Amino acid sequence: MLQNVLLAREIYASEEHQMMQTMIRDFIHNEIIDQTDAWEKNGMVSRDIWERAGALGLLCIDMPEQYGGSGLDFSFNALFIEELAKEGISGPGFSLHSDIVAPYLVKYGTKAQKQKYLPPMATGKMITSIGMTEPSCGSDLQSITTNAVDKGDHYLVNGQKTFITNGYMCDMSVVAVKTNVGTAKEGVSLLIMESTFEGFEKGVPFKKIGMKAQDTCELFFDNVKVPKENLLGEEGSGFKIMMTELARERLTVALNAIGGAEGAIEKTIAYTSTRTAFKQPIAGFQNTQFKLAECATQLQVHQAFLDRCTLLVSSHQLTAESASMAKYSATEMHNNVVDECLQLFGGYGYIWDYPIARMYADNRVARIYAGTNEIMKVLIARGLFKELFQEMKTKKREKTK
Ligand SMILES: Cc1cc2nc3c(=O)[nH]c(=O)nc-3n(C[C@H](O)[C@H](O)[C@H](O)COP(=O)(O)OP(=O)(O)OC[C@H]3O[C@@H](n4cnc5c(N)ncnc54)[C@H](O)[C@@H]3O)c2cc1C
Repeated sequence: MLQNVLLAREIYASEEHQMMQTMIRDFIHNEIIDQTDAWEKNGMVSRDIWERAGALGLLCIDMPEQYGGSGLDFSFNALFIEELAKEGISGPGFSLHSDIVAPYLVKYGTKAQKQKYLPPMATGKMITSIGMTEPSCGSDLQSITTNAVDKGDHYLVNGQKTFITNGYMCDMSVVAVKTNVGTAKEGVSLLIMESTFEGFEKGVPFKKIGMKAQDTCELFFDNVKVPKENLLGEEGSGFKIMMTELARERLTVALNAIGGAEGAIEKTIAYTSTRTAFKQPIAGFQNTQFKLAECATQLQVHQAFLDRCTLLVSSHQLTAESASMAKYSATEMHNNVVDECLQLFGGYGYIWDYPIARMYADNRVARIYAGTNEIMKVLIARGLFKELFQEMKTKKREKTK
């Protein structure tokens, strides 16, 4: 058993964490796992599961209680992410909703915005998404072209977003737009857009390699009137807000990776202990033992780093560089672990009925979304060479004067 070799994790040691873990596991086993096939066929989960998660207090866990959240710290969100990942549950985009969209509103929303949107988000009656990526740009977010023209009491929005998690089911999306295009004030702003606004259209969910129950789709905006009171944060501050908040988003992807790796290793230990070849369990071969020993070591090293990062989120001290290191390294580790584990399942590893096959297909995207792992390295390197890059910039500016 993996637990025999992993150190106990202090961040999840409290009685409250233990109780929540039991509740989450019951929720997954009694209400989620059996529905996975049907959700995959539909290309999306049911609305009911969102409301069940809300009723159990599993949505927006660290949101203040005054808005309907559970008012706990981020380690409880982290626990939920890991537990879902251990069982390879990738359909419900709970984390995107609770850990990414909700904090944008809590931190930058006006009182009226918080009162309107946060309570239904906590109950699961309102499903949300975040629209940054466009067909022509993902890594280079400053190049977005979705345009919001100031019309006095509203913005008139035209453009398109793509690859949007929860896109098809969402009732509201926080959308990155360009404001004041062609003027000195041109910049990125964030708008809260409700899916019932006229001209807000959704594409059909994409057919993906994995995460088949996750409703990733395109969003289209055709002369959508967005009231001025739906501006999130200050006009032109969208890029800065996104760069600040992306650290937390990247950590959630990393947490999913360590949960997924733990689940994959557990399942592989169980499988190789019972499957036999050459009159002995597959686990009897030194190759199996070495591979799983390597995987368990990699997992434990990443858990230690991620536990530290999780604590830093609650005290608002997680840096962009550390979040990038966590996302890049944990997702690469997860990819390697799942690949090695699948190999140990032999042919059955390639069959969809076996969770390891789903895990393999689902986790590939983690090296791409929330910023590709190449972009993570760009961000880390930017920190390493900060002074040099600053100097080069100043010299360039002086030259062009
Ligand atoms: C399933 C799924 C869900 C997603 N969910 C969301 C969502 O909810 N909201 C949202 O806004 N977006 C979402 N995305 C989009 C995702 O964040 C982008 O796909 C990602 O940021 C990469 O952007 P891109 O696809 O435009 O790739 P590109 O930017 O075109 O990159 C292509 C390749 O070039 C490399 N590259 C680019 N720039 C550099 C550089 N400077 N140095 C080195 N290499 C570079 C990249 O690493 C990559 O390998 C999702 C994507 C998927 C697949």
